[in-house]
Amino acid sequence: MRICIFGTGYVGLVTGTCLAEVGHEVVCVDIDAAKVAGLNRGEVPIYEPGLTPMVKANHAAGRLRFTTDAAEGIAHGDVLFIAVGTPPDEDGSADLQYVLAVARTIGRHLQRPAIVVDKSTVPVGTADRVRAAIAEELAARGVDLHFDVVSNPEFLKEGAAVEDCMRPDRIVIGTDSPAALETLRRLYAPFNRNHERIVAMDVRSAELTKYAANAMLATKISFMNEIANIAEQVGADVEMVRKGIGSDPRIGWHFIYPGAGYGGSCFPKDVQALARTAQQHGVEPRLLDAVEAVNAAQKQHLFALMARHYGGSAQLRGKTVAVWGLAFKPNTDDMREASSRTLLAQLWDAGARVQAFDPEAMDEARRIFGARDDLRLCDSAQAALEGADALVVVTEWKQFRSPDFARLKAALADAVVFDGRNLYAPDEVEAAGLAYYGIGRGRSL
Ligand code: NAD
Repeated sequence: MRICIFGTGYVGLVTGTCLAEVGHEVVCVDIDAAKVAGLNRGEVPIYEPGLTPMVKANHAAGRLRFTTDAAEGIAHGDVLFIAVGTPPDEDGSADLQYVLAVARTIGRHLQRPAIVVDKSTVPVGTADRVRAAIAEELAARGVDLHFDVVSNPEFLKEGAAVEDCMRPDRIVIGTDSPAALETLRRLYAPFNRNHERIVAMDVRSAELTKYAANAMLATKISFMNEIANIAEQVGADVEMVRKGIGSDPRIGWHFIYPGAGYGGSCFPKDVQALARTAQQHGVEPRLLDAVEAVNAAQKQHLFALMARHYGGSAQLRGKTVAVWGLAFKPNTDDMREASSRTLLAQLWDAGARVQAFDPEAMDEARRIFGARDDLRLCDSAQAALEGADALVVVTEWKQFRSPDFARLKAALADAVVFDGRNLYAPDEVEAAGLAYYGIGRGRSL
């Protein structure tokens, strides 16, 4: 099938590439000319396992093209995907300016019937607004064309985006048009072979499903962080508690890891946006507000542990802190809303210097922080330790899991490790002569 995708970010680029991989003819449109030029040279601007070779192969095969020319994309596509960003507005609700700009562009250029598919995460009711924006532009041109607007939210995870896209848990399609549903069934047939993954529903339920999924996951994380904070105070180890509850299949093992708070481009903004939607419709989002508040506090927890260890934040002045991990989670270079950013800001406020290493996010860190005297971006985990007083682990990259603790002890002047992801066994770290602080590990008090 002939597909056009607006937006070549994590979602648009991965979706377009996976659709091309199964044989569809895909044109990706982006307003970022430098990004498009780079993609046409085979330069993939984000780190996602498996993505670059797939982009290159499909581009070389002519099934995946990149352009800034919206009219070209619209002329090409029978199905037009909207996969542009929906960042938080000032009040936390989703900013729909990019989505609606694409809708108007479609209305200005559409020459034949089409299916418009909203893949961006958008509040309930957005499909109606997209439909109205397209219709308005068509009317201004004096053109009468049939088009459907379908909600097809995306559930891929950064760091495993290609895998998730090629083997989705479910494909949610929200539409009241049997014909549009049939077309999308054909489009997704290659991803729906072994068992039925398509969950068809009305548009509004599909729009809400995406927020409900992310809010549920964020809730699990905040819940576990709250338990961790209780564990810390009562002298219990949350890692034991985690194992004790995860074995209950009603609870399960996923997303019950305490840590330094959730970040990324989705959970923070989606929890907030759902809370605003609730308020706008007269529902008090008590749980969602608490999820957000717990997370905001949790992002400051590592610094609080450091301040406690040193006898007050003032004692951090002049300290050099090695930071392992900047991305908001492993296997991505994405630092949007990352817990590391909260920690670094607090360390700098306290007058500490940071020596940081992340396996993939160094360019992103350079772009975000620029050159500053109190930040050294290092080439390796080991280099970040040189001349450091303390180590903080913020992102649970695999390569940080088994350090040589004797070497850490030799490198760190203050011989202390703050483990923001509970990667290490406290006994093992302490046996090497280091002080250990984890999240919710009461025994470390
Ligand atoms: P992103 O910020 O990485 O990319 C958005 C892209 O859209 C950018 O390249 C931008 O230049 C482009 N763009 C903006 N306006 C445009 C226009 N008028 N025409 C063409 N391109 C335009 O965003 P993302 O992370 O891919 O997220 C996109 C949507 O998908 C958001 O609603 C997000 O909430 C949702 N989502 C994201 C993820 C994720 O893991 N990142 C997962 C599921 C859903």
